[in-house]
Amino acid sequence: MVKLMHIVFATGNKHKVEEAQHILLKKDITLTQINCGYPEIQADELEEIAVYGAKWAAGYVKQPVIVDDSGIFIEALNGFPGPYSAYVQYTLGNKRILKLMENEKNRRAIVKSVICYCKPDEEPTTFPGLIKGTITHSERGTHGFGFDPIFKVNNKTLAEMTIEEKNTISHRTKALQKFAEWYNR
Ligand code: IMP
Repeated sequence: MVKLMHIVFATGNKHKVEEAQHILLKKDITLTQINCGYPEIQADELEEIAVYGAKWAAGYVKQPVIVDDSGIFIEALNGFPGPYSAYVQYTLGNKRILKLMENEKNRRAIVKSVICYCKPDEEPTTFPGLIKGTITHSERGTHGFGFDPIFKVNNKTLAEMTIEEKNTISHRTKALQKFAEWYNR
């Protein structure tokens, strides 16, 4: 019989939890969500934000946790919004990001997730994952969340994919698979 491992996922985002549950269960890891509202610092790298959050959350809940910090990096905008993606989603939203991109021929973008594992009072370990794609000219699709409707890979936006399809290619899958292999060892 397979022995299931377990991990606490510190996040307030139910979409991230749903995706992570599918991905990690395939690696025999179950997860529990804790919405402890860890501070998200401003930094130029997702890694820094994830490390700070994971250390804080592990100390707060007094057990090992993972956190996920993600962002979209648009080449024509010099990597904007990158680590500021949550703030830009909240203040501008996808329609105004598309407006910024209106006259841009270079539509290339990267989406990235950093999963950070931390035990209380220990140094954290990070697991990055990314996918390359392009920015659409309009929002497409009804699945997913965040910038999924404006980011496409092979002509399909992440929001036009079911969660199973998104999970076969996603940045989060790549990061969580690296974490799972390390954690199961
Ligand atoms: P954070 O990782 O929670 O800081 O998220 C940064 C921003 O990226 C938020 O606006 C999220 O909604 C968005 N986001 C995070 N992961 C994804 C994803 O897998 N697809 C689309 N948007 C995402």
